[in-house]
Amino acid sequence: MSATMESEAWLAGRAGRETWPEIQGMMEVGRMLHGRGWSLATSSNYSVRLSQDPFRLLLTKSGMDKGRLTPADFVVVDEHGRPLPGEPRPSAETMLHVVAAQRSSIGAVLHTHSVWGTLLSDVYHSLGHVRLHGYEMIKALDGVSTHDHELEIPIYENTQDIGSLAEEIAERFEDDTKPKMHGFLIRRHGLYTWGRDLDEARRHVEGFEFLLEVAGRALTLRSALPAGLVAPPVSL
Ligand SMILES: [Zn+2]
Repeated sequence: MSATMESEAWLAGRAGRETWPEIQGMMEVGRMLHGRGWSLATSSNYSVRLSQDPFRLLLTKSGMDKGRLTPADFVVVDEHGRPLPGEPRPSAETMLHVVAAQRSSIGAVLHTHSVWGTLLSDVYHSLGHVRLHGYEMIKALDGVSTHDHELEIPIYENTQDIGSLAEEIAERFEDDTKPKMHGFLIRRHGLYTWGRDLDEARRHVEGFEFLLEVAGRALTLRSALPAGLVAPPVSL
């Protein structure tokens, strides 16, 4: 196929896409997450499942500025993370989105690169998780109805071998002996979380990022507290 024909097919495949609510929703989320400093320098990626059977996932293209996404900055992939014919190249981290969105309870996945998530994923990597308890904001997470809940955020080593990491994440989803996973951290990299739809995934990002910042600031407060005052515990 010539370059011109390829680009015509690409444009035809995108006809009317600017009106897709999934695209509009992710453009808005991108402006918010970039504005909060959680998706800077073209980092991060977002996705929404379009259909379960056949599996079709709409996600952000590789390397786009998340504060200025346009309707052309998205790609549709299949259950193997492969772009459909005529679609552009997806993010290198596509399979992490696919393994999450293949679960019927997950309709949208959001990935951020915040300062606190990056720092804490490194500080607590040797424990394998960050564990938080007692904060009201934990109730932002689906199914959590009390602050008296132990939230465990698993931490995985960073890698460029996304296929292996995706397999590890898929196994964790299936492991009923572990607490329900609302999200995970990748060391020195960032946060993945999700929801039944984009609104819930967005609420989860906000909840997680708030909690990670609280945990990080609690650590920095420790050495500065006057005698008799105690910083809240992090990673019990
Ligand atoms: Zn990333």
